[in-house]
Amino acid sequence: MKNYACSKCGNKVYFENVQCVKCSAELGFDPDRLAVIALEPLPGPAGSYRAIGHEGSALRYCANAAHAACNWLTPVDTGDGFCRACDLNRTIPDLSVNGNLTAWQELERAKKRLVYDLLRFGLPLDTTPSGGERLAFDFLVDATTGHLDGVITINVLEADAVERERQRQQFGEPYRSLLGHLRHESGHFYWNVLIAATDQQDSFRAIFGDEREDYGAALARHHAEGPPPDWSERHVSAYASAHPWEDWAETWAHYLHIVSSIDTAQAEGMEPRASGLIFGAAWPFRAYDVYREETFGALMERWIPLTIALNNMSRGMGHNDFYPFVIPTAAYDKLAFVHRAIRDYATASSPAMTVAGDEGGPHLAPISPPANTAPA
Ligand SMILES: [Zn+2]
Ligand SMILES: [Zn+2]
Ligand SMILES: [Zn+2]
Repeated sequence: MKNYACSKCGNKVYFENVQCVKCSAELGFDPDRLAVIALEPLPGPAGSYRAIGHEGSALRYCANAAHAACNWLTPVDTGDGFCRACDLNRTIPDLSVNGNLTAWQELERAKKRLVYDLLRFGLPLDTTPSGGERLAFDFLVDATTGHLDGVITINVLEADAVERERQRQQFGEPYRSLLGHLRHESGHFYWNVLIAATDQQDSFRAIFGDEREDYGAALARHHAEGPPPDWSERHVSAYASAHPWEDWAETWAHYLHIVSSIDTAQAEGMEPRASGLIFGAAWPFRAYDVYREETFGALMERWIPLTIALNNMSRGMGHNDFYPFVIPTAAYDKLAFVHRAIRDYATASSPAMTVAGDEGGPHLAPISPPANTAPA
C-alpha cells in the first residue's frame, strides 16, 4: 500500500481515511486514480464533490458509505451508486441483525485491500467479455467459505476475532485472517483466468501437480487424515497439500501478502539490510512498482530481510511472529510461477503500460532461496 498525502494540506493520510485530521477535508479513495484524494463539495447535485488538486468529473461516495462500510469514490453520473469494489457484492448480511454491521464493515475493509491488489496488478474483475466469469462476493451467515463459478462466499463469522482464533488453533494454522481468506478465494477465480483460459495447465501441473485429481475426495482425505508428514518441504501451508487447486490458492494468497507488504514497506521507507545474510542484495533498493516490476528473485531479496526484521520487532513487543513461515524450495518455485502468471497476463493485456519514475534500471537477477532464513 502506497502512502498518500491530503491533496488539500499535504498531511499524510491512509487508505481507510474519510477525513484529514489536519485540515478536516473529506477524503475518499478513487479506484481510477488508485489514490486517496481530498474532496470539496459541489453546489449540486447533492452529495457530489470535486477532487482537490485533480482534474476530472464530479465524484460521489459509494452508496455503502451510508453504512460506514466504504470510503471509495465513484463518478457521480454513472452506475448504481456503488464503487468498483462494492459493485462486486452479490449478497451482504442482514444489517438489522445485531453484530452483522460490524462484521460486514470489517469484511469490507479486507475486501478493499484485495481489490486494491487486483487493480494494482492490472488483473480483470470481470472476464465475461472473453467468455469467463465475473468476480462476485456473497457475505453470508452460516455458509462455508469458498469459491464457485466466480463467486467468493465468505462466512461472516470469520469476522469474529474470537471464533477465528479458535479455528486457527483447531486447524493448527500459524496464521488466519480475513484478508488471507479473501486472497485465497480470489486465487481460485484467477486460476480460471490465468491458467485455464490461457491453456497453461501443463506448466501448472509440472509444478503443482494434476488438478484433475478428484477434488472432493482429496479434501475429504485431508480433513480425515491431515496433511502428509513432509508437507512443509513442498508447500507454503499444510492446507496447500490437500489438492493442487488449494496449493495454488494458498500460494497465490501468500504471494499477494508478500507483494502488498513490500509495497507498504517501500512506502514507509523500510528497507532492512540483509541482516547478516549474504545473497547479493543491493541496498538501498530502488523504488519500484512492486506490483508490476521486479523479478521474483528481486522481490524475495527484499522480503526475507524484511520478515526477519519484523519478526524481531514482534518478539520485542511480546507478540507472535509477524511472518511465521519458512518457504521450502518447492514452494519458492510455486510462488515464482504465480508471479510469472500475473506478470504475463498484465503485460499481454496492457503491453504499452509504463510506470512513472522508472527509467529501466538494472533488475536483480533471480536467486535461489536462502536456506533456513526465517526463524522457526
Ligand atoms: Zn488535509
Ligand atoms: Zn464501495
Ligand atoms: Zn481454497
